[in-house]
Amino acid sequence: MKLIINNPGLFLLCCLMIFSSCGQTQNTDNNNTMDTINNKNPYYSRSDTTKLNLTDAEWRKVLSPEIYAVSRNKETERAFTGKLWNFEGTGTYYCAACGNPLFRSDAKFASSCGWPSFFEVMHKNSVIYKDDNSFGMERTEVLCGRCGGHLGHLFDDGPLPTHKRYCMNSVALDFVPDAKAEGQDTITLGGGCYWCVEAVYEELSGVISVTSGFSGGTTKNPSYEEVCTGTTGHAEVVQIVFDKTLTSLDEILKVFFTVHDPTQLNRQGNDIGTQYRSVIFYRNDRQKETALDLIKSLNASKVYDKPIVTKVEKFAAFYKAEDYHQKYYENNKEQPYCKLIIQPKLEKFEKVFKDRLKTK
Ligand SMILES: [Zn+2]
Repeated sequence: MKLIINNPGLFLLCCLMIFSSCGQTQNTDNNNTMDTINNKNPYYSRSDTTKLNLTDAEWRKVLSPEIYAVSRNKETERAFTGKLWNFEGTGTYYCAACGNPLFRSDAKFASSCGWPSFFEVMHKNSVIYKDDNSFGMERTEVLCGRCGGHLGHLFDDGPLPTHKRYCMNSVALDFVPDAKAEGQDTITLGGGCYWCVEAVYEELSGVISVTSGFSGGTTKNPSYEEVCTGTTGHAEVVQIVFDKTLTSLDEILKVFFTVHDPTQLNRQGNDIGTQYRSVIFYRNDRQKETALDLIKSLNASKVYDKPIVTKVEKFAAFYKAEDYHQKYYENNKEQPYCKLIIQPKLEKFEKVFKDRLKTK
């Protein structure tokens, strides 16, 4: 989803922010040699999530001068000079200093402020925040959650659904397009209400993104209300992008069979209808075989009292659900459904997979 600011007031505010937000003192040339430097940086890893705590001398050795200036010296590149401020592409933005995944491209919006802007981070642990009272301003500094490197600032003038604007330095980011992302895989799973399934996978180590939506039906771009009627053929699903070096399809599927009941046909508890069916949408033969093998072994070892009814179907299309459905549990923890239905599933997952949770 690409959001464009067409509100003149908001646009003016953004223009004003050029001087009050990231705009600081230092000019950083952005014709950097990021890729070359990253290849030489032994701490740069898109699969390692452990915290990095290096000395200044170590950082100086492994970072290009351009990245060092922003990441370690908290300098700011000139507006409209970075290579990513008006860049569009589908993929993931990583910390240029350490490889920590920070933003997905569908959270990027055209803010006209001259720096790449996002309305939400990939995971709540992707970044950390710090009060920044420098230059006589009260701002919130955004730092990488893994290496503590400076990325930019956070403002409250962003678009829906969060109203946040993560105003980042291009040079602090490393963009990797989806098709070329190394070691990543995507699977689409239906296990009843997607709010529940999404909440669980958000906590699993190695999961890069979880998106709630619809698959397996005939209606194009269905709304939640349409899917609820049960006539679109779609199932509520989550689309999971994961790092194969940190988790595996096998583990993703084991979690799936732990947090929903795969023996219930077209329902999960009180949620009844084909939209709540248990289904795995595979993208290739390897995914299909992994799913069928696991189902076979779960049936053979009688893990459940009844046979598994989970369908294994070829993936055709995924339609993202409305924004208020994304990260639903995280944003609505006090609601009765979340407390009664989602929380117990989450607790069960946390117990079984306690060694596999993302570090907080
Ligand atoms: Zn970092």
